[in-house]
Amino acid sequence: MLEDKNTPRTKLEELGEFGLIDHLTKNFEIKHKSTVKGIGDDAAILDYNQEKMVVTTDLLVEGVHFDLSYMPLKHLGYKAVMVNLSDVYAMNATAKQITVSIAVSNRFPLEALEEFYDGVATACKIYNVDLIGGDTTSSTKGMLISITALGAAVTEKITQRSGAKENDLLVVSGDLGGAYLGLQVLEREKEVFKVNPNNQPDLEPYSYIVERQLKPEARKDIIELLEKLDVTPTAMIDISDGLSSEILHICKASKVGCNLFEDKIPLDPTVISAAEEFKMDGTMIALSGGEDYELLFTVDQKDFPKIKANPNLTVIGHMTDKSNGQHLIARDGSQIPLKAQGWNSFEN
Ligand code: ADP
Ligand code: MG
Repeated sequence: MLEDKNTPRTKLEELGEFGLIDHLTKNFEIKHKSTVKGIGDDAAILDYNQEKMVVTTDLLVEGVHFDLSYMPLKHLGYKAVMVNLSDVYAMNATAKQITVSIAVSNRFPLEALEEFYDGVATACKIYNVDLIGGDTTSSTKGMLISITALGAAVTEKITQRSGAKENDLLVVSGDLGGAYLGLQVLEREKEVFKVNPNNQPDLEPYSYIVERQLKPEARKDIIELLEKLDVTPTAMIDISDGLSSEILHICKASKVGCNLFEDKIPLDPTVISAAEEFKMDGTMIALSGGEDYELLFTVDQKDFPKIKANPNLTVIGHMTDKSNGQHLIARDGSQIPLKAQGWNSFEN
């Protein structure tokens, strides 16, 4: 897309650093009372009153975390915000503000950054967060993005990884594995395109999983749902690295074991069919695929009636005493130890 000859290419030098920041951020509006001062001073000023604040940050590097040959910059801006908001929601907090820092090489014209900020703006609007600052600098090669997200919650609601207890239920939102398979489809099409640039890929059958990869949504709705259902999870984490590794994080922090039931893991029909096509196993992809940005949490058994009928939530297992370890209970009843890399756990 950066090579597209038809779109105008305004050199960043024409604006200068301050002109650029002003140009990219002028249309962002402040929505929250807690944002006393946003962009425009040496630091932003926030006032969280009685609430506790949560802060999280992520660094994304071109060629490591994203590939601009199939990732439109608008989607990248949106996804970069999602990755951070997901961490705020994983604390059972409401996201309120973000800062966005970027470093780009001179191969990026103004129009490319405008697209990136379009995606950031869309995310801020839909998720109701204020852009309150950032930093802008040049890089010798490629693009770097660092986003920090701030959120708030009353003390009793904040949910850490460490609160799971024996017999708590293990619950996941949405479905898993789509983002990883979407990436496989995009990588495959990239290879086909290299051989024959005239070959227009038909991504239609894969639209759900490609969208899961290119335009993930952080589960703000699940935090709101839990509030409505009057459920405070005992522990929570967002699924960025695959179900297996996230379960192990909760178990380690909470000092508990876990039984995860293979037949309960929610997979979309598109994920099942694409997994077959790529000769992979759906369960393994859910366990180690990553980038789904669903929420994984534990609840006390007494809360089961409140969550059981909800189509957005699936009970996939329960926590056990630490001495039992962490296991996948396979469809045939066999117990397979969970490992951070789910692929290895199937070697035996
Ligand atoms: P400083 O020299 O103090 O770092 P800058 O000139 O970098 O200040 O930034 C001026 C203002 O613009 C600050 O409020 C800063 O947070 C904001 N800002 C800078 N870069 C960005 C960006 N990429 N996105 C959003 N806000 C930015
Ligand atoms: Mg600066």
